[in-house]
Amino acid sequence: MMLGELRAEVARYAKKMVASGLVRAAQGNLSARDPQTGLICITPSGMDYDLVSTEDIMVIDDQGGVVEGAHRPSVETPLHTLVLRRRSDINCVMHTHSLYATAFGVVYEPLPMVLAESALCLGGAVPIAPYQMSGTPEFAELVAETLGEGNAVIWGNHGAMVVGPSLSATFSAAHALEDGAQVYWLARQLGTPIPLPPDEVEKLHTFWREHYAK
Ligand SMILES: [Zn+2]
Repeated sequence: MMLGELRAEVARYAKKMVASGLVRAAQGNLSARDPQTGLICITPSGMDYDLVSTEDIMVIDDQGGVVEGAHRPSVETPLHTLVLRRRSDINCVMHTHSLYATAFGVVYEPLPMVLAESALCLGGAVPIAPYQMSGTPEFAELVAETLGEGNAVIWGNHGAMVVGPSLSATFSAAHALEDGAQVYWLARQLGTPIPLPPDEVEKLHTFWREHYAK
């Protein structure tokens, strides 16, 4: 089997996405690029993550062509491949339906950085991509453009996406996004949330890049 170790890790993190509430059942998707070959391991389309094993993870090239695997790759493959082609600084893309982050995409309010952990992983306010039906090249372009050089983007009326240099860093970023959204929501019930100053956000994210992005 090609890229067995990386495929096993993608399967393991897909299950972790479900277990930690970032998605339910077969929702969301996850990809990881092998830096040596440039090939991408991605979750299969419509398969319950509880049942996903190493060989179910599809191997595709950077244009989405299937290299190995018996399923169809995720419907969001055009987006994963586009982001990975554009961003040599990251290797993983994770799409979640995490609840509090998604709520910001329903009121179309970018998420400010109110937690040190979120600022560390995400590096700035998280933008909202306008709603469009996902899974198309046009949607991929829209989300990739809204993401820019950032590490997270919220999809209007849908969910969220995070990127990172490794599966563990990307998984942490997904939780930093969700925790930041939940704490912001809680803080708004108590009063007026005070975001971290931009220079502090920059300082934290620079530290993260130096320690995790290499
Ligand atoms: Zn989705």
